[in-house]
Amino acid sequence: MNGKPIRVLAPEVAARIAAGEVVERPVSVVRELLDNAIDAGSGRIAVEIEGGGIAMIRVVDDGRGIAPGDAELAFERHATSKISEVGDLSGVATLGFRGEALPSIAAAADVDVVTRASDEPMGVQLQVVEGRVSRRRARSAPTGTSMAVLELFARLPARRKFLGSATKETRAIVTLLSHYALAYPSIAFKFVNNSRTGMQTPGDGEPRHAFAAVFGTEVAERMLPVDHQLEEVHVIGLAAPPDVTRGNRSGISVFVNRRWIQSRSLGFVVVDAYKSLLPSGRYPLVSILVDLPLSEVDVNVHPAKAEVRFQDERMVAHAIRQGIALAVGESPPATWDMTPGPGVAAQPALSLRERLMPAAGGSSPSFLPPSGLSAEAQLSQREALPLLRLVGQMAATFIVCEGPDGMYLVDQHAAHERILFDRLMAAPSADPSVQPLLEPALLELEPGLAVTASEYRAELEAVGLALESFGERSFLVRSVPSSMAARDPAGEVRAIIEDLAAGRTKDEGRARAAASIACHSSVRAGMAMASEEMRRLLEDLEATDSPRTCPHGRPTTVQVSRESIERQFGRR
Ligand code: ADP
Ligand code: MG
Repeated sequence: MNGKPIRVLAPEVAARIAAGEVVERPVSVVRELLDNAIDAGSGRIAVEIEGGGIAMIRVVDDGRGIAPGDAELAFERHATSKISEVGDLSGVATLGFRGEALPSIAAAADVDVVTRASDEPMGVQLQVVEGRVSRRRARSAPTGTSMAVLELFARLPARRKFLGSATKETRAIVTLLSHYALAYPSIAFKFVNNSRTGMQTPGDGEPRHAFAAVFGTEVAERMLPVDHQLEEVHVIGLAAPPDVTRGNRSGISVFVNRRWIQSRSLGFVVVDAYKSLLPSGRYPLVSILVDLPLSEVDVNVHPAKAEVRFQDERMVAHAIRQGIALAVGESPPATWDMTPGPGVAAQPALSLRERLMPAAGGSSPSFLPPSGLSAEAQLSQREALPLLRLVGQMAATFIVCEGPDGMYLVDQHAAHERILFDRLMAAPSADPSVQPLLEPALLELEPGLAVTASEYRAELEAVGLALESFGERSFLVRSVPSSMAARDPAGEVRAIIEDLAAGRTKDEGRARAAASIACHSSVRAGMAMASEEMRRLLEDLEATDSPRTCPHGRPTTVQVSRESIERQFGRR
């Protein structure tokens, strides 16, 4: 038979298997190294990555360092300085406590450590190769620790294959760092991506300054303070007024006892606190710290520390909901001085509102550009619309028509989206439907969105939206498709980039960009339209390749047959 003898796995094999639990992606390594730096009492932490963190991650801190005699031990499984007995687990005050991160990382990549404890004259450098310390030497170094993780999963090609693109991994790391920056305003964070400095926070202890470094000064100025105590639960932080929203939940940041929690239920509570104040599909910007007695929280439930268990989750939810509702309900005027603390990255001194484009032409915008498409409609693929006679508009949203068999309702937004989408996909970038902006609009993006914007630059430009990079996270909108010309370009472009960041496959980049632009420049539901405009919309829809669906696949047209109407009137 082909049976092989059963053996206990060799330690180095076992180490690799277990590594999967803690270290899945570059961002998990960054999180563990950040946690260690924070636990070491650091005031400054620099995170440097190359190639999405796959090629290199280096975290440098100015914390208390590792004593020379302990350096090797730190890489042993379950070696930790943070707890010593089982009882300690019910009151963990540090972020780490399992002693698993460093050995797991060392099993997944080579690590280069330089550390110097504060009471030592010299530092020590260790090179850890294949999970073992291969070289050790004394070295002069500043107090603190530098950990470099090189070529993650190079020895584990199966795992490496499952990593996303460098851009995707970078985005995850930027998101993580943004959240940490918000929760630790007293720490000065610096992020360097492929030798270029990205986000930088002042570390002056002022949450609003940290917030400004992540989301921009304009939004930071408008954030409302949250400070609420319910029994033993204290909720503190910043919540956006309801008109400052995002297209997804990425602007919601919840930390429990300074631990980042990615809990769906708490995220839901945050959104719920705004009740009906938010338009549907929009999410708030909220950054809150929830503090409660250590004994009320069990942190030992998730291998990557992403979740915790509360003694009384309802009380926590209640405190969050009340705290946000109070802050948002009262809306005190923003009278906060935005002078950045020392070391904060310079923000362009521009008033965004001043730079926004006035509506083109000044008069009330007609959202339908001139007709006359070159629709070389492939008749075979096309399920044509029948000839429709305009009857009127309903609920400022649906165009009511009469057709050969009954009543047709056309969703004006979906129909316009289809028209614009086809036009954008057909037009080369030199097409006259591109509208250059006389005065470019300034777009300030948070780091994650800035990555998406750069990533989609070519695709957006191909459909008429030209962005020029302008500082770390700012872009100038140079031109827009003419269908968008009458709108607030910065606001619309931000919404488009949020769309692109939300869910995405790279291979159909241009179509995604076009669909998003079409969505953000088409006539909205709730807009009254003149008969002439509705007639032209119907004509243009009729001329598209797939008049019956919008680019997202939803129907543009619903038919109610004459027969069913007659039946309801008892005529049949
Ligand atoms: P844990 O954080 O759960 O204790 P780790 O494997 O992450 O386990 O780290 C092991 C030990 O190494 C820590 O308990 C700590 O004593 C030490 N250590 C790791 N990183 C640092 C750092 N940046 N500064 C100081 N000490 C560190
Ligand atoms: Mg740790």
